[in-house]
Amino acid sequence: MFDEGAEKTKYKILIVEDSLFNQMVLRKILESRYTIVTSTTAEDALAKVHIFEPHLILLDIILPDANGFDVLVTLKQSEDTRNIPVIIITGLDSDEDEEKGFLLGAVDYIKRPFKNAIVLARVNTQIHIIRQIQTIEHLSLMDGLTGIANRRAFDIQLQYEWSRAARERSWLSMIMLDVDKFKEYNDTYGHRHGDFMLQIVAQTLKQELKSVTDFFYRYGGDEFAILLPGLPAERARGLAQRLVTSVNQMLLSAVKCQSPCAHSISLGSASMQPQPQQSPAALVERADKKLYLAKQNGRNQAQCE
Ligand code: GH3
Ligand code: MG
Repeated sequence: MFDEGAEKTKYKILIVEDSLFNQMVLRKILESRYTIVTSTTAEDALAKVHIFEPHLILLDIILPDANGFDVLVTLKQSEDTRNIPVIIITGLDSDEDEEKGFLLGAVDYIKRPFKNAIVLARVNTQIHIIRQIQTIEHLSLMDGLTGIANRRAFDIQLQYEWSRAARERSWLSMIMLDVDKFKEYNDTYGHRHGDFMLQIVAQTLKQELKSVTDFFYRYGGDEFAILLPGLPAERARGLAQRLVTSVNQMLLSAVKCQSPCAHSISLGSASMQPQPQQSPAALVERADKKLYLAKQNGRNQAQCE
């Protein structure tokens, strides 16, 4: 169902139109569904695009300080704005102008005079496409089994947090954790029960990390990763110890099984103050080494830097 209230707060449209009357007409058509900002000049529009970050732009061609086609070219040249769809709305009604608009990257071309219902329908179509793209982007970063972020999301966030920590000269810690003897559990009780155990681990992480960080991921198989921006080694260590206990308790109460099933996880944590020339892979490698040590030392424990 189309939720008008939610759409209005969620999707923003920038109307670039020098005639205040035409602006008002468009605003009336769209404002019950969308958040509207207006510009009367090209210069103001290009500034507002960065401040307002619209999902869609309605662009007139005849503007006082520039040609709308030039505004379109500028938008398409910049990494930040090239993916914002632009609908041209104009009195220029020649086929050549329409063709030019599409060639420059507009997604639609509406000629005046127009029917209000048709403008609304064509805007709705573009917003519908944006929603679908957002859904696909969201799903591409999620792990289907556990409902938490996946390895791809981890790689993106790690790169971002690493650069930020290098810039701000702050700490970046991470925890790598792995379910103990999970293969034996799978082999004994079957994959479906194994899946359930992974879901329990993910849920426990979610509860335990709520106040510390939102950055936890299914790294792959029975491995999970936690990013801890701003946390020095000492605090990462405390958190890792706490997670050993809480996951162990949760698995003991939720997963019933005989030996050789383990109800535990092993963790490794590492902390660095990143240097710009270093690769974030260094942090992952160090956490991995500590995790390996935790396994070697008998599992159900954290090994930390
Ligand atoms: P260790 O304590 O050394 O970690 O022993 P382990 O048996 O847990 O060894 P390992 O971590 O290498 O085993 C991972 C197992 O996880 C092997 C694979 O079959 C299983 N696995 C990977 N992905 C899934 C999944 O999505 N569902 C289930 N049920 N099992 C999975
Ligand atoms: Mg394992």
